[in-house]
Amino acid sequence: MKEECGVFGVFDHHEAAQLTYLGLYALQHRGQESAGIVSLDAGGNFFVVKEMGLVSDVFNPENISYLKGRSAIGHVRYSTTGSNNINNIQPLYSKTAKGKLAIAHNGNLTNAYSLYQMLKNEGALFQSTVDSEVMLHMIARSKSKTMLEAFKEVLPKVEGAYSLVCLGEDYLLAARDPYGFRPLVLGKLDQGFIVASETCALDLIGATYVREINPGEVIYIDKNGLQSHKLSKKPTPAFCVFEHVYFSRPDSIVFGDSVHLVRKAFGRMLAKEYPVDADFVMAIPDSGMSAALGYAECASIPYEIGMTRNHYIGRTFIQPSQKIRDFGVRVKLNPIRSVLEGKRVVVVDDSLVRGTTSRQRVAAIRKAGAKEVHLRISCPPHVSPCFYGIDFPSREELIAYNKSIEKIKEYLEVDSLGYLTEEGLLSAVSFPKDNYCTACFTGKYPTKIMDEMDKYKLERKW
Ligand code: SF4
Repeated sequence: MKEECGVFGVFDHHEAAQLTYLGLYALQHRGQESAGIVSLDAGGNFFVVKEMGLVSDVFNPENISYLKGRSAIGHVRYSTTGSNNINNIQPLYSKTAKGKLAIAHNGNLTNAYSLYQMLKNEGALFQSTVDSEVMLHMIARSKSKTMLEAFKEVLPKVEGAYSLVCLGEDYLLAARDPYGFRPLVLGKLDQGFIVASETCALDLIGATYVREINPGEVIYIDKNGLQSHKLSKKPTPAFCVFEHVYFSRPDSIVFGDSVHLVRKAFGRMLAKEYPVDADFVMAIPDSGMSAALGYAECASIPYEIGMTRNHYIGRTFIQPSQKIRDFGVRVKLNPIRSVLEGKRVVVVDDSLVRGTTSRQRVAAIRKAGAKEVHLRISCPPHVSPCFYGIDFPSREELIAYNKSIEKIKEYLEVDSLGYLTEEGLLSAVSFPKDNYCTACFTGKYPTKIMDEMDKYKLERKW
């Protein structure tokens, strides 16, 4: 399971490129394969820097100073469609008859393949194999007179998830699909406007959080200020609940809720649903920590640090190859023998996908002397893939698709296993239950999945 992407934009600030760099730095957890910034100067000239690697590797004082102008957009990427290569780095940039346009996209389109085939048959030449480029072609071909009209015409034709930040010759445009799968927030800094995937990026640059960009809303910002437009498709919120479980940073406000506090509430619900006698509660660092605190608080069992993370290898791995991942499991987390020896422990983790990593972690905790290991997972079992921008393994590779809870318990060699129920999960968030997507736990997708895309589909067909 991998992160997806992060987007960031600045309109009208004298440090647009620097702020975008810092914004991407704060959003690094959403994608570690590549990063890019496109800036715009007063003459309508665009400046582009993008490269494979982490934000800190891609940008330096020289290339940031090359990114001139008072507006900029940026993107950090983990590939959810198309390979991890230089052509697929965003923002995508193109010259159209209606002016130059750069696009940064978070989310996956569920009818990208059909649209791609249609555009290719009409003679479109694709620069990349990412689904986002389909939108760029459709906007370029639109007969609408202005870019804003073109976006309003094209976006209702694409299905699935998109949180977009786009830069034109004298405007910044941000849009969110009518389901609002991925987060997108609006902020203010001095006289300028900021758009970001998460509020943690606003915090880092000292911007004020204004509000979420609503599902089905298009925001258009130019020298005259901000306009809000609605897409023709009725908003039917399906916020990705997994943003709260795992993806977003705990210091962000996502879909109106504090991620840390929602995770703590997940832990409290887990303690009610699966109580057990134990000497202490520990987390699998880092994303299990808030839920473990909630579990400990509710169960009145001490919270302990039973494992430490080596922070200097990053949150996850840059190379998604199996060989490196196995190496990473061994070096990433280390159990603390002096804490674990002879103890009955509740181990709280955020999710269980293939189960291979958890099995190794449980084995390491036992090897360090734990007498009993009770595993608690702060979301329901994963039984279906995500088509909205999270790179899950195939159904067959998901451990809960193939095995009963009892069999998973045996495979992991734990003394007990408890997954948070869907009811428990949805009791911790603020909006009504039917405003959230839970498809990877239930198999009930909020949209019709026209093209069951895997991330290389456009590439193979190409
Ligand atoms: S399928 Fe799961 S990960 Fe994908 S949007 Fe829905 S809740 Fe989020």
